[in-house]
Amino acid sequence: MVKDSWNRTIEYVRVSLTEACNFCCPYCRPEIITAQSQTNLLSPAEWLVILEAFYKLGIKAVRLTGGEPLLYPHLEELLKGLKERQWFSDISMTTNGSLLTERAKDLHDLGLQRLNISFDAVDEETFNYRTGRVGQLGPVVDGIETAIATGFDVVKINTVLMEAMSDDVVRQLLAYIEKWPVVWRFIEYMPFQGDAFRGPTFEEWKAQLERLTGGVLVPESKVKGFGPAMYYTLPNGRSIGFIFPMSHTYCDSCNRVRLTSDGKLRLCLLRDDEADLVGLVRAGATADDIALHIADILQLRHEKHDGMDMETPKRAMWRIGG
Ligand code: SAM
Ligand code: SF4
Repeated sequence: MVKDSWNRTIEYVRVSLTEACNFCCPYCRPEIITAQSQTNLLSPAEWLVILEAFYKLGIKAVRLTGGEPLLYPHLEELLKGLKERQWFSDISMTTNGSLLTERAKDLHDLGLQRLNISFDAVDEETFNYRTGRVGQLGPVVDGIETAIATGFDVVKINTVLMEAMSDDVVRQLLAYIEKWPVVWRFIEYMPFQGDAFRGPTFEEWKAQLERLTGGVLVPESKVKGFGPAMYYTLPNGRSIGFIFPMSHTYCDSCNRVRLTSDGKLRLCLLRDDEADLVGLVRAGATADDIALHIADILQLRHEKHDGMDMETPKRAMWRIGG
């Protein structure tokens, strides 16, 4: 197990495989980069050297993300390599779900255990706005329902709270929460575009849910997965999670680092501190060499991010991996 200089054990690495995405969510990726336009992707062999270094440091869990990870051209080859090596006890992916229906079974067969799927709106018009695309609600709903039927250990839904929702929309959302056997989490909007925080706040959102469900949300003590979500039980018995990185800092228990699709180790989502790793791989460094280097770099992690006072990170969300 490797620790940083604030005595936090690092146990989880998030790997952004590509900057490419087929959506343009307004809070994440206003510009367009096509699947063909990123020229500095890592090969599966390069990722495996870097991930072996993390394995040697005692990391147990890997999450694949992006951009849209299903657009990484060698995804299946990478998963096959990870399955053969059995380095990690937990392999998961965050996806927008639009390309999942055809591939869910193969990904599951290749050892992908858990899926997080982004799902920000329940009506076609809002979904179009929130994805920057027309007509994707149906494919994403299909993707989610296929993932549920495929038998992944856990399917989670992520909903970013970019603005307050009407009571009517929240009622529709609650119907989906009741229908789908998933773990549903609400994520506070992080102002990556240099704009102001827009809410709703945790307290506002919780109050609206309590008003519309006619009961209180009961805090749960059980931890689910490796993330910072706080879970509550709705009056109907379903569990929902809240991730509020801006107003409730989780920095003191931050157990993760990130790898960007151009092969950099990023020490904090909301800070631009990065170190090149793929350059070492290309210069012939072994996994052991890289593990030593990573252990040193981790000591440079800051104690916390600057929350609402943060400077806009230079890398946008789609280039970091969420
Ligand atoms: N394309 C995949 C997806 O959308 O799930 C994976 C990458 S995406 C960058 C990872 C996560 O970051 C998604 O759940 C997305 O909703 C979230 N995200 C992106 N920009 C955000 C922002 N400004 N504030 C909060 N969450 C954000
Ligand atoms: Fe693409 Fe995911 Fe960002 Fe949306 S949140 S633009 S789907 S990377």
